[in-house]
Amino acid sequence: MTSSLAPSPTLSVVIPVYNEEAGLAALFARLYPALDALGERYEVIFVNDGSRDRSSAMLAAQQKLRPDVTRAILFNGNYGQHMAILAGFEHTRGDIVVTLDADLQNPPEEIAKLVAKMREGYDYVGTIRRQRQDSWFRRHASRAMNGLREKITHVQMTDQGCMLRAYGRDVVDTINRCSEVNTFVPALAYTFSLRPTEIEVMHEERAAGESKYSVFKLIRLNFDLVTGFSLMPLQFMSFLGIGLALASGALFLLLMVDRILFGSQVQGVFTLFAITFCLLGVLLFSIGLLGEYIGRIYEQVRGRPRYVVQAILDDTAGSQREMAPVPASAMTRDAAHQSIAHR
Ligand code: UDP
Ligand code: MG
Repeated sequence: MTSSLAPSPTLSVVIPVYNEEAGLAALFARLYPALDALGERYEVIFVNDGSRDRSSAMLAAQQKLRPDVTRAILFNGNYGQHMAILAGFEHTRGDIVVTLDADLQNPPEEIAKLVAKMREGYDYVGTIRRQRQDSWFRRHASRAMNGLREKITHVQMTDQGCMLRAYGRDVVDTINRCSEVNTFVPALAYTFSLRPTEIEVMHEERAAGESKYSVFKLIRLNFDLVTGFSLMPLQFMSFLGIGLALASGALFLLLMVDRILFGSQVQGVFTLFAITFCLLGVLLFSIGLLGEYIGRIYEQVRGRPRYVVQAILDDTAGSQREMAPVPASAMTRDAAHQSIAHR
């Protein structure tokens, strides 16, 4: 095997895992042969995002099975897919870093395409899902959000939801210097990339288990993306406010003139209601929008650790790191004294 004696890998694969026990065996069975076939020195970094099922035990077993190329970072709680990826990034050593979902929706065999594209000199390879295999609602909501987000943030991603992507070492190093609490990794990478490109990849149905994103979580994620990369929504509300103030000023003048010329009139009460409620809606929406920004600022300034690592399972040859060999059964919050907090 090319990878076992290698001092430092050329390819790092980062995989966030949250309650994926049903699909992990299938992932292992496809991932390692696909990577072995590449002829690269590679490493796989699993990040267990506080799974409450057997995922962490399965990752620990897999790490024992392929200790030469496998490392696992275990969080003490659920901090979200993007925090898991960021934690993985901090431990990567490869020149090329690929992120992959654990649910096999993006086939591991496609990593070869990404690596080939990176070798052409790009420092960021985004992906577009060909024949996306998700629900009708997800596909259409995602397309609408993609279009809106592109106008608001100027981050060019044809398909923001596809997480099978490749990042160059410099891009990953720059991301590692960021300390954003709410972020969207592909957009962050795009802002730092000098030569980004996109390719098409296959997309499959989830091999097992269910999507870990509820509608509420998806909305939050999209707010992270928009608020994290643009102030345009706030500016839009300011301009809307100016426009409405001018329009209502003009209406007021018109009504005054009307009253002077034709006397008092009492019609139009319901129109007034409609206009008032519409404006109330706009007002509440803009307060909410402001709240989305302020809430994120609050989370950021509190400066709490973005995630807490409970244990790192690492026996790779190049490892300088102190290991915390916690047995899978003991991986609870009680083990927090062993934790490593990351800002
Ligand atoms: N994931 C995670 N933490 C979370 C939610 C998801 O690490 O809080 C992982 C999950 O295990 C999977 C990837 O992120 O590997 C993508 O999640 P999922 O497939 O549920 O998202 P979808 O494909 O439905 O967008
Ligand atoms: Mg998925």
